[in-house]
Amino acid sequence: MKRRDLIGAAALMACGAVRAQAAPAFSAEDLQHAEALRAAGLADKHAWAFVQELCNTIGPRPAGSDNEKKAATWAVARLAQLGLSNARIEPTPMKAWLRGAASAKLVAPVAEPLVMAALGNSIAAPPGGIEADVAWYPDFAALKADTSERAKGRIVFIDQKTERTRDGAGYGAAVVARSQGAIEAARRGALAVGIRSIGTDIERIAHTGAMRYELGLPRIPAFAVSAPDANRIAALNATGRTLRLQFTLDAQSDVETTTQNVIAEVPGTDLADEIVLISGHLDSWDLGRGAIDDGAGCAIASAAGAAIAAAGRKPRRTVRVVLWGNEENGFHGALSYGDRYKAVVHQMVSESDFGAGRIWQMRGRVQPAAVPLVQQMAQLLAPLGVAWPEQGYNEGGPGPDAAMLMRRHKWPGIALNQDGTAYFDVHHTVHDTLDRIEPAALQQNVACWAATAWLAAQAPLPFGPPVF
Ligand code: ZN
Ligand code: ZN
Repeated sequence: MKRRDLIGAAALMACGAVRAQAAPAFSAEDLQHAEALRAAGLADKHAWAFVQELCNTIGPRPAGSDNEKKAATWAVARLAQLGLSNARIEPTPMKAWLRGAASAKLVAPVAEPLVMAALGNSIAAPPGGIEADVAWYPDFAALKADTSERAKGRIVFIDQKTERTRDGAGYGAAVVARSQGAIEAARRGALAVGIRSIGTDIERIAHTGAMRYELGLPRIPAFAVSAPDANRIAALNATGRTLRLQFTLDAQSDVETTTQNVIAEVPGTDLADEIVLISGHLDSWDLGRGAIDDGAGCAIASAAGAAIAAAGRKPRRTVRVVLWGNEENGFHGALSYGDRYKAVVHQMVSESDFGAGRIWQMRGRVQPAAVPLVQQMAQLLAPLGVAWPEQGYNEGGPGPDAAMLMRRHKWPGIALNQDGTAYFDVHHTVHDTLDRIEPAALQQNVACWAATAWLAAQAPLPFGPPVF
């Protein structure tokens, strides 16, 4: 037995030696520097200071608003202060949506107020609002499957529930009720659509978020009610009595304005023309303070860039920090970035936009030959609790703006997945405040991003084109 074990070990070692020669790898110096960046990130003070000041002095930053512009002016100065180069604002036109006053109440079988919020992009209801009977559906699939006339002339209510998951899969499955509820309701002749908030909490707060219309179908108002209000509606519906609802909703659509990306860099050396992009989005919904969505991501990306700039060694490729304009309601910032920089080689695009929880997994979306490098990057983060999955390791989704650019421009992506178990409790609500952020978790994020961006900038071969 012992002899066989020895032979096995020798064979494994030989095989490992052959592999080490064949597979691309980072240099010992680059790995050592990544370890130093990892340590610097764990002691970072910039991310917390960034998000604290952003939330306390500017607050919510709806896409295209004056507050979003104020935040951009503040952030560009902050990035320069943090030691990044070429700090600049790149504006782009967009049409904004402005929230007005809104309210909802049950009028039958009982008269009760409801806690609600208009969904982003919803048209206004006529003056005085809309009152109608409710056509209740347990979920979006039930509405889509309905071939009857039941929804016609009524307010459709979709009771879609959001499952709590670490990776956001529950949100991914439920959010279609918000984004496409008005389309399917309008297709069936409904006057309006109400939904259970897309969220995992049981607070009496409503979650907003973007919805959309389809050309050729009537545009109907759309709103969400809190989970307890949705539970109440479900219970009353189950009694078989007629549900009747009244709501008002004021809003302005298609307001001509601009949004802007904030960009700053750590310039590269021999491969300076190639970009390693780390990012967050500077806009937020208006109900809270925009702390976890996505002040935290902006803070993490900025602090990671600052750590690389401060660490002494210049990267080979240029590390670019981007704080996107208007992620929430149309991706105008990311789309304009793609147009402007489409001819530039991107070694990596990525975005921190899943709250402020700790990173638990790295996944790539790179050319097959670069997978061993990404795995090596993940191994460097293993002491911080970051796993490299056995499956799907090259099927990462690098954050909403980055993922859109990755697919449009065939740019490789790196995903650092944050623990989102509690994210959808406060996402797009009045509870998105600074209080939800743990400073030590921000430091773990900065450590992961600084080391990751550095290694991507030093990699001995291109990460692209990615495999889809
Ligand atoms: Zn976001
Ligand atoms: Zn959001």
